[in-house]
Amino acid sequence: MVIFVGAGPGDAELITVKGMKKLQEADVVIYAGSLVNADLLKYCKEDVVIHNSASMHLDEVIAVMEAAVKIGKTVVRLHTGDPSIYGAIREQMDRLKKKEIAFEIIPGVSSFVAAASRIQQEFTLPGVSQTVIITRLKGRTGDCEGGKLEELAQHHASMAIFLSIQAIDEVVIRLKTGYADRTPVAVVYKATWPDEKIIRGTLADISSKVAKEEVNRHALVLVGDFMGDDYELSKLYDRHFTHMYRDKS
Ligand code: SAH
Repeated sequence: MVIFVGAGPGDAELITVKGMKKLQEADVVIYAGSLVNADLLKYCKEDVVIHNSASMHLDEVIAVMEAAVKIGKTVVRLHTGDPSIYGAIREQMDRLKKKEIAFEIIPGVSSFVAAASRIQQEFTLPGVSQTVIITRLKGRTGDCEGGKLEELAQHHASMAIFLSIQAIDEVVIRLKTGYADRTPVAVVYKATWPDEKIIRGTLADISSKVAKEEVNRHALVLVGDFMGDDYELSKLYDRHFTHMYRDKS
């Protein structure tokens, strides 16, 4: 059996209870060394075999899984955050299906929600935005499927931009075609890690602030008026609003 486990954003206590239990039981663990906090490996049993996927290509990862499963071992593939977000999990699952190797997925706390907790903000603010866009600047593979930043920026939604901090200047130029210059931006470096860094600004000044802090990897760019001060109160907790679970009081 192969179990894909979302490791969470960094803090070793932000893995799910289920994910932690799977790590405790694992005979083999494959993890992305540069992104997953090695502290999580403390949950593993003593004779666990650990592979760092940073130096492995897909064929090698699948080969390790296959060999272990063949002799009845349990394999945990530990992914940063949640595996469904930029996790390259699909290609692994498809290979396993082809080989008829059973697998399970345990979700994790994605870094974009961890980052929201660290800046103490809500992405979905009434009267501001009820939409969250998760995206990235186009990668080395070419176009950004699903819409360019300029197109997405037209919606004025709350946005979490992954894998793009190294090109913050370009991100800002593209966003400015849709958002006003005064739109709040937070760059969260290594959310929930001990060396976390939060840089706050607006589209007008975030580039220079990021340059000054020398943050160029492992960070999220959060954009939107959800970080501003204007919003409407939620109807959910409105005392004049009756809903299914609570009578008017
Ligand atoms: N599956 C992961 C994302 C993997 S892609 C998730 O759900 O979070 C790797 C990118 O995610 C990084 O380049 C960075 O943009 C972001 N990231 C991952 N962990 C982060 C953290 N703790 N703080 C800030 N950004 C993080």
